[in-house]
Amino acid sequence: MSVFNLNDQNAHIDNKIIAGLERLSQVFRVLLWEKAKEHKLSPIQIQLLIFIQHHSNDKTTVSYLAQEFNLTKPTISDAIKVLDRKGLLQKIAHTKDARSYSIRLTEEGQKVVEETENFVNPLKEIVSEADEADKVVLWANISNLIAVLNKMGIISVQRTCPNCQYYSVNNEVHFCSLLNQTLFTKDIRMDCPEFEAQ
Ligand code: SF4
Repeated sequence: MSVFNLNDQNAHIDNKIIAGLERLSQVFRVLLWEKAKEHKLSPIQIQLLIFIQHHSNDKTTVSYLAQEFNLTKPTISDAIKVLDRKGLLQKIAHTKDARSYSIRLTEEGQKVVEETENFVNPLKEIVSEADEADKVVLWANISNLIAVLNKMGIISVQRTCPNCQYYSVNNEVHFCSLLNQTLFTKDIRMDCPEFEAQ
């Protein structure tokens, strides 16, 4: 039974959900391409700039970025070289090992992020109009799906609550011992700056 065979797809809701998710994944590609063309950058170069802008130095090394984006280190290094040549980022050598470095954005790089990270705005507008209860259900399903895909090894880096050492669940009550607070569905984080792996 194929998700993409229209008879199979239309006869089963599971197939429709998967086909729908595949269709949604195209949205990000299309929206990102528009920005990429405007700035003469590739979509992955824009994604790297946005990630670097919003994450700490320990997460902006070539190794970490390769894991984060499910790409090889040489592919990330090549993209970094191009962005460096364009003056959009700078390398900061580590004091203990001069061969390794973290990456920060230059002012010009930050400007590009400002002008491109709104590529998600069409989706943002649609989501903002949804009912709050529907948003909670949607987020519960999305976060569960991400957690399962992570366990299956399909999504590699995850800085989400269920993977964090500060997280616990008791009688279906989720709790963060760092923030010392109960985590309701809306509080579960997908990318937490305080995350510590278990
Ligand atoms: S520190 Fe962050 S990721 Fe960890 S449980 Fe608390 S809110 Fe979740």
